[in-house]
Amino acid sequence: MRKLASLQRITTLEPIPNADSILKATVLGWQLVVKKGEFSVGDLCVYVEIDSILPERPEFEFLRARSNRIRTVRLRGQISQGVCFPLSILPDTLEVEEGLDVTTVLGIEKYEPPIPAQLSGVMKGGFPSFIPKTDETRVQILVDLLQKYEGEHCFVTEKLDGSSVTYYLNEGEFGVCSRNMELEKSEDNSFWKVAVNLGIEAKLNSLGKNIAIQGELIGEGIQRNKYKLKGQTVRFFNAFDISNYEYLNYSDFRALVENLELPMVPVLEERFPLVSDINTLVELSVGGSLLRKETRREGIVIRPLKEKTDQIGRVSFKVINPKFLLKYEDA
Ligand code: ATP
Ligand code: MN
Repeated sequence: MRKLASLQRITTLEPIPNADSILKATVLGWQLVVKKGEFSVGDLCVYVEIDSILPERPEFEFLRARSNRIRTVRLRGQISQGVCFPLSILPDTLEVEEGLDVTTVLGIEKYEPPIPAQLSGVMKGGFPSFIPKTDETRVQILVDLLQKYEGEHCFVTEKLDGSSVTYYLNEGEFGVCSRNMELEKSEDNSFWKVAVNLGIEAKLNSLGKNIAIQGELIGEGIQRNKYKLKGQTVRFFNAFDISNYEYLNYSDFRALVENLELPMVPVLEERFPLVSDINTLVELSVGGSLLRKETRREGIVIRPLKEKTDQIGRVSFKVINPKFLLKYEDA
């Protein structure tokens, strides 16, 4: 679970050009605007991430016009992600400790975008236990991990803004899953339609093993069709060996989808020595989509060429383009 609110230290405070009363603060790998005089470098604060929905409380009144949701904003030219509150918003009895998750204590909930009908489908069952769900950690909370893997050769793909899909073949049985559940076969459901159109069951069958492929469904009716596609399709980003419970390394994944003539997510870099500076990675995330250059890309996903696991589980993370969030978050 994502820690939406936690106790974190302010590591830097810098002036913002042409702004006297505010400063740019760094917390974890996030940059945000704070009021001048409210915090000093080294202070602990309650840091609340974007996508948080705050409860009704006088201290959160300033967010009312934004439905109490913390979003990416730009203030005096400075992109600001998240909000720092003083420790005084916490209950007196709480024992203050750096890193402590206070999401529940503060009654904070996560904003979830609504799911369109053609995607929701009819549930056949829970998400299969023999395949991991798709997910990506945000780079901004990986300060230590980045240092550990600095220089590691990675590949970088474009993060597409669609809807997660998993197709699998296990012990001869074909299944279609959205982000959190397995779906009943249906002609109305987009995940199934694309499976049928691309002949995915037969393709997976031809491999003769228990395998799952995971990707992003994009196109008409999905996330406002930012890539302006006709119809719907999928772009794959994972292949998972069910029998050995492991992801395929990049080169094997790539070979697999190419042999099956299935489309992959766009690749930005195939041999990128990982850098640990988060601002540099954020800059790399900014740009047009490789599917349609006039569309801002949502971001990028970075992974080592050889699969690795660490404290966060699979070493793989996302860097969201802050300009994408500025453009699309308010709608
Ligand atoms: P958060 O955890 O940050 O609150 P979230 O869990 O809803 O947000 P997303 O921001 O949607 O996650 O990011 C993870 C999703 O990104 C994956 O589940 C996957 O469907 C999707 N995705 C799109 N493009 C890629 C890609 N190139 N590589 C990996 N995943 C991708
Ligand atoms: Mn997530």
